[in-house]
Parts: sequence; structure tokens; C-alpha cells
Amino acid sequence: MEDVNKNLQPLQGKVAIVTGASRGIGRAIALELATQGANVVVNYASSSAAADNLVAEITAAGTEAFAEGVGGAIALQADVSKIDQVDSLINTVTEKFKRIDILVNNAGITRDTLLLRMKPEEWQAVIDLNLTGVFLCTRAVSKIMLKQRSGRIINIASVAGQMGNPGQANYSAAKAGVIGFTKTVAKELASRGITVNAVAPGFIVTDMTNDLKADEILKYIPLGRYGQPEEVAGMVRFLAADPAATYITGQVFNVDGGMVMA
Ligand code: NAP
Repeated sequence: MEDVNKNLQPLQGKVAIVTGASRGIGRAIALELATQGANVVVNYASSSAAADNLVAEITAAGTEAFAEGVGGAIALQADVSKIDQVDSLINTVTEKFKRIDILVNNAGITRDTLLLRMKPEEWQAVIDLNLTGVFLCTRAVSKIMLKQRSGRIINIASVAGQMGNPGQANYSAAKAGVIGFTKTVAKELASRGITVNAVAPGFIVTDMTNDLKADEILKYIPLGRYGQPEEVAGMVRFLAADPAATYITGQVFNVDGGMVMA
């Protein structure tokens, strides 16, 4: 008998939100999830042209998982550090797709400077997006996932949250917070079939690290090179997949060329 499911892609019919998906790691994640068949919400803060380009690329590649009358990707602007914008983002997605299966909390910024020079506003901006933004999106989406009794939440942390990094007191505090948040929320949501994991990239080539590349850094990377956004996206794909990751929650996965070895 013919297997009617044989042509289904692994994430076909799933709805995924990727925050900060217009550039860098988020872009690669959105593309990867769409390639796996998911309907992807490409969130961004200000790069509307880049977000539209990604949606066009996904559509042109024909990777849409056509939910009834819906394409494979849409771009939605929202500053995810702001509660009203997060709530309206999640409401729009829920109205359009009726469900949310995967949330990737990826949006992040840096405001690097040494502690003694760090202005309170540089501290606050990083905490507001990189930590509070993760809380706001996770809280809003978990209400939907609790009703569905299923969901995958994947938080993009950083090796800076595990080992510290001079000049990044704000960033490493936020990312360490994301790791603690991941473990607690994983315990709170586990009984409802929702998994929550973190991915901790090392040094990945994106706009965020454009000015930082230096031979000095390579000495701390056993694999001897910087990472690519697609290499982080591969781990996110794994964590979103069934049955590969159904029994994994509360974990932190390093994609860092060996920088952190627990
Ligand atoms: P990136 O290239 O600078 O891209 C940042 C993305 O976040 C952009 O899409 C940007 O949207 C979006 N964004 C910024 N502020 C936002 C806001 N308030 N609301 C919604 N979206 C916002 O950064 P990246 O290197 O890809 O980093 C992605 C994630 O990985 C971050 O959480 C970062 O901390 C983490 N990470 C990166 C590295 C690395 O080496 N690159 C290492 C460890 C962890 P616009 O284009 O509209 O500004």
C-alpha cells in the first residue's frame, strides 16, 4: 500500500516564530525551518526589506508547507522587548495560523564595553531585549502551547553566559539568565508536552561579530575557525524535530567549535 505520508516534510503543518529573523543566525534558522516544511513567522525590528527578501526567498524556493490559504513565511515587525508589541505579534500569529508549534527566541543585541564604562542604559537595553524579551515571548506563546499540549521553545543563549567575556557584563548576565530561565520553564511546562531548550553559540560570523574577528579569538576555538549561522540552525532544526528531540528538555547545547566543554 502506498504510504500517503512519504512526501511530507518533517515540520509540515507546524507553525514557527523566529524572533530577529531578518539577519544572521535568525535568518538561517527561519530558512532551515521553512525548508523542513514549517510555516515561519519572520520577526524583525527595523530591517523590513531584509525580512521581505527572506520571505520571498522561502516562497520562491517552494518550501512552503501550505496551511490552508497560507504561504510558507510571513514577515512581522515587532520590538520583542516591548510587552504590547509582543502581545500583538502573538495575537496576529494566532489569528492567522490558529496554532504555534515552535518559538525560537533569537533576537539579541550587544552594547559592549568594560564594566566601569558601562552606562545604565547600555546595561538595560541588553537586559530588556536579550532576557526580558525571551520572558515576554515565552510567556505569551506558552499560553497557546499549554492549550495545544505540545510545543518546542528554543532559546538562543551564548557561551558568554557560561564562561563570561570581558566587555560583555550586560550580555553575559542576560545570556546566563536565559539559561536559568530555560531550565525553570522546562520544568514548569514539561507535564504539558512542551520542551524548552537553549542553544549556546560560540563565535558565529554575523553582523553582530563583524568588528570582533581577530586571530586572538581563534586561539580559544579548538576547531580553529568561526562558526556559520547555518551550523546553529542545524541544532535548532534537531531540537524542533520529532521524534529526534521529543525526550530532551531543559538542556543547553553548545555550537561553538569546542570553546566550552562541560
Ligand atoms: P545580528 O546579525 O545582529 O541579528 C540580530 C537580529 O535581531 C536582527 O534580525 C534584528 O532585526 C533582530 N533584533 C534586534 N533588535 C530587535 C528587537 N528589539 N526586536 C526584534 N528583533 C530584534 O545577530 P546574530 O549574530 O544573528 O545573533 C542572533 C542571536 O544569537 C542573538 O541572540 C545573539 O545574542 C546570539 N548569539 C550570537 C553569536 C554570534 O557570534 N553571532 C554568538 C552567541 C550568541 P533588525 O534586522 O530589524 O535589526
